[in-house]
Amino acid sequence: PARQAYAGRFAPSPSGPLHAGSLVAALASFLDARAHHGRWLLRIEDIDEPRAVAGADRIILHQLQALGLHWDEAPVWQTRRHALYEQAFARLRAAGLIYGCACARRELPPGPYPGTCRPPDGASMPAGAVAPPPAGRRPIRSWRFRVAPGLETFTDRWLGPQSQDVAAEVGDFIVRRADGLWAYQLAVVVDDGAQGVTDVVRGADLLDSTARQRQLARALGLAPPRVLHVPLILDAAGHKLSKQNHAPALDVSRPLDCLREAWRALGFAALPAATPQAFLSAATAGWAQRFGSPPARDA
Ligand code: GLU
Repeated sequence: PARQAYAGRFAPSPSGPLHAGSLVAALASFLDARAHHGRWLLRIEDIDEPRAVAGADRIILHQLQALGLHWDEAPVWQTRRHALYEQAFARLRAAGLIYGCACARRELPPGPYPGTCRPPDGASMPAGAVAPPPAGRRPIRSWRFRVAPGLETFTDRWLGPQSQDVAAEVGDFIVRRADGLWAYQLAVVVDDGAQGVTDVVRGADLLDSTARQRQLARALGLAPPRVLHVPLILDAAGHKLSKQNHAPALDVSRPLDCLREAWRALGFAALPAATPQAFLSAATAGWAQRFGSPPARDA
C-alpha cells in the first residue's frame, strides 16, 4: 500500500513560553519532518483552558520564528476545534466505547481506575441513549473510554519496542473531564487524525500516553501515528525541565545558542554553522543519517 506522505507536528501547551526542554521536542520534530521532506504542523494545545496563559501562544509562535523553525500550514488552536472533539465523542458513544462515570477523584484509590462505573461487557446501549446512572444512580461527572484488555505493543523510533497493558496499568481513562473539558488524550488523537499526522515526535514524558492514544485512534477508525520520544532535559535536581518547575523562557535573541544546546541535548556532536539556517540544514542531514526513513507503521 502507498505510504501516506509524512506529516509531523509540534503541539505545545501555551502554559508559558518555550523553555530549553520544549525546544528539544520542537527541534526534533522539525528535523524529522525536514529529513523526510514532510510537512511540519504547529498546533496550540490550549484545550486545558484553565492552564493556558494569555499571550503565551503568541510568544511561542514568535520564539519558533526567531529560531528559524518555520511551520508549513496555518497553526491551529484546539479551542477552535470543539466540533471535531464533539463528533469523535458522539462516535465513541454510539459505538458503546465510552461510559459516564460518577466517581470523584478523591473517591478513587491511586493506580488504575478500578472500573467502578463500567457497565458490564455486552451491555450495549443504543446510539444516543444515556447510560444508566451507574453506582447507585449518582450523577455522571466524567466520561471514560473502555480500554481493550491485553498488551498494546508498538515500536518507538528512539526507544525501540514498547508495550503496555493499558487495562491493568491505567484502566478506563477519561476522555471528557468532570469540568466538561475535553481530555488531552481525546483532543490529541482527534487532532493528529484530522491533520493527517503520520509521525509524532515529542518528549519522553508522553511515552506513557502512547498506548492509550493508539487504542483511542483505532476506536475512531484512525491509523495510529508512528512515534519517536526524545529524552527529557532534567534540571540539577533531576526533575523534568517544565513550566511548573519554573524553567526559564528561551532567550531567542541568541537563536544559534538555543539550537546548539537543544541539539547537544539530543546527543549529537557540535556542528559548524554560522547562522540558524545553516545550522538547521546541517542538523537535518545529521538527523536523516540517524533516523532516515521511518519504519512501516505498526498495525
Ligand atoms: N501539548 C503537550 C505538551 O505540551 C504535547 C502533546 C503531544 O505532543 O502529544 O506537553
